[in-house]
Amino acid sequence: MRCPFCGNVDTQVKDSRPAEDHVAIRRRRYCPACAGRFTTYERVQLRDLVVIKKQGKREAFDRDKLERSIRIALQKRPVDPERVDQMISGIVRRLESMGDSDVPSDKIGEIVMETLARIDTVAYVRFASVYKNFQAADDFEDFVSELRPTEAADGDGKS
Ligand SMILES: [Zn+2]
Repeated sequence: MRCPFCGNVDTQVKDSRPAEDHVAIRRRRYCPACAGRFTTYERVQLRDLVVIKKQGKREAFDRDKLERSIRIALQKRPVDPERVDQMISGIVRRLESMGDSDVPSDKIGEIVMETLARIDTVAYVRFASVYKNFQAADDFEDFVSELRPTEAADGDGKS
């Protein structure tokens, strides 16, 4: 693994241990050339996912990008970082298990929102509002109304 600081390819693994409830292996690495330390994660990858964008553009699925957007949504929220890692792994596993390597980008957004809604309402609204900026503005109203599960549960008399 190449050192991210100096580019030396000859780095050493100092410590390996299970992470994210044994879904990943976390390795602490050391670069003898510059004394830099960094961490890598090893995870099961069931398939190479390709994201299909709105205009049909194809792009390799990027777990880091997904993780960044979720962490931004969860900023300063009282959610355990380990739980966030598990959540991201769960989302990726779901995407990988959908039976097709091609995943529409709005399907990913949908799964992320569904997962966030269960973990943290504020993060969910943040993510949904950013995500929905790309969609019709009135769609967001539907999402906000979905945030009231008790009212929705007895809604069989209405509509
Ligand atoms: Zn180095």
